[in-house]
Amino acid sequence: MSETDSRPTDFIREIVAQDVKAGKYGGRVHTRFPPEPNGYLHIGHAKSICLNFGIAQEFGGLCNLRFDDTNPTKESEEYVQSIQRDVKWLGFDWEDRLFYASDYFEQLYQFAVLLIKKGKAYVDSLSAEEIRHYRGTLTEPGKESPYRSRSVEENLDLFARMRAGEFRDGEHVLRAKIDMASPNLNLRDPTLYRIRHATHHRTGDTWCIYPTYDFAHPLSDSIEGITHSLCTLEFEDHRPLYDWVLTECEVACHSQQIEFARLNLTYTVLSKRKLLELVEEGHVAGWNDPRLPTLMGLRRRGYTPEAIRRFCEHIGIAKRDSVVEMGLLEHFLREDLNRRAPRVMAVLRPLRLVIDNYPEGQVEELDAMNNPEDPSMGTRRIPFSRELYIEQDDFREDPPPKFYRLAPGQEVRLRYAYIVRCVDVVKDPHTGAVVEVHCTYDPATRSGSGQSQRKVKGTIHWVSALHALPAEVRLYDALFTVPHPGEENEGRDYRSFLNPRSLEILTSCKVEPSLKGAAPESRFQFERLGYFCVDAFDSSENRLVFNRTVALRDSWAKIEKTQQTR
Ligand code: ATP
Ligand code: MG
Repeated sequence: MSETDSRPTDFIREIVAQDVKAGKYGGRVHTRFPPEPNGYLHIGHAKSICLNFGIAQEFGGLCNLRFDDTNPTKESEEYVQSIQRDVKWLGFDWEDRLFYASDYFEQLYQFAVLLIKKGKAYVDSLSAEEIRHYRGTLTEPGKESPYRSRSVEENLDLFARMRAGEFRDGEHVLRAKIDMASPNLNLRDPTLYRIRHATHHRTGDTWCIYPTYDFAHPLSDSIEGITHSLCTLEFEDHRPLYDWVLTECEVACHSQQIEFARLNLTYTVLSKRKLLELVEEGHVAGWNDPRLPTLMGLRRRGYTPEAIRRFCEHIGIAKRDSVVEMGLLEHFLREDLNRRAPRVMAVLRPLRLVIDNYPEGQVEELDAMNNPEDPSMGTRRIPFSRELYIEQDDFREDPPPKFYRLAPGQEVRLRYAYIVRCVDVVKDPHTGAVVEVHCTYDPATRSGSGQSQRKVKGTIHWVSALHALPAEVRLYDALFTVPHPGEENEGRDYRSFLNPRSLEILTSCKVEPSLKGAAPESRFQFERLGYFCVDAFDSSENRLVFNRTVALRDSWAKIEKTQQTR
């Protein structure tokens, strides 16, 4: 790709470009995204989706969605559906190329028969434990199974009877006959088929033998004519086996496996097993809990697909594993929302403010910008009246130095409205807490009226008490208290680092009336507070529920600091 091209480039795209130039695969580019339907997709999968679909788009090729559904006990239709929803939401389209490894079970079986006939596979009757024992270690060669020398006829007979259901789980396996002394453990006669009497979510009880990943994956790639089979680094040592399977099965299309580093993110976990545990053990409210890094969770949190795609593009593709800062993901989210999210005013912890000299019953409609970043988003009118709510935090009875918000005797500007001065407070007789602030306003200071050039240091947001809508707001924070919860942390389980304050629910919030009927998933900037979205599940016509998507400024640096000083 040329220097001026703004599209990403990396070692994989370079390989693909060279292959296209050299006319390999007839110049075709065909990739696939191959999830196993045993969980929900997470942000790590987004990296793989963006890579596979992105490369296909850039090179005028195709990308398939293929379910790698060879393990019936852990997979389900629920996951098949959610994965499709998530890939679409992220903005990618597999068109008519939705495939399942289980569609190839008969073909895969025939390939296994071919290997047996060539003397390249045999039925082994050692127990799983014995097979492990015979396998040897990195420093010691393995030992050949006594069943390795079975005749082709005997192997064909046993394999057919495995398929026919004559044996119990684990009684036999089909293994490739490669090299028990290979320095690569994956080549020490790896298992190709195991017996598993389990109902498959698509093939039902048709099969009781299932192919392993190492056998099914290269062949599925080849059957679909995949040119570049992109996978994560842990499969690097499997590549010789990938190639062995394709060579020995004498396939027409020898797909090429290329490995890249998986995405890791701070303050979260990206392992399906751990995510499943968090959900099943009730540490979060479900797969779409806004604290999870699942695509469903990020979506419910208010992430846009554009922000996720930009993030994936930015982090790029590398050959070395690394951990990306959560702050970076949030940076791309803020950047996107800053451009697109309309501004509104909302008060999360309300304190009543009464303007003593404002006429009772009077209402003014004030003009407010929907997005100063984008004047084309227009303006709206917000009602102003004698009684307002402001944020409790914006008033202090005994203000510290440089507190430019409201305090007895002090002036502040009410956003889009007037300058007010605090003249009195009302306290709760029992607790002494300030429950109401009394002010006077200066009618000559209305914003945008051109009358007043008078300036004060602080501006605060507010809503009209009479017009405001009640709302619930859920404030989310990091799910874990340490940057690397999934790694070995002095032997402590990752669950012991769960953040007990990852969710705070505020039920007496007040939002401006323009939010009436706000659509599920719509996103707003609550002025001075952050970005929020309408919860798609719990919000309704009569009940507004918002999730805090992200604060206005990066707060991760601060978290790091408090971690260090602990
Ligand atoms: P498991 O956690 O069980 O190993 P997995 O995360 O690999 O599963 P798959 O459904 O097999 O889940 O993944 C589908 C594709 O997404 C694979 O090609 C895999 O390499 C890729 N992928 C998974 N996790 C990441 C990640 N963190 N970063 C980049 N790619 C990933
Ligand atoms: Mg996997």
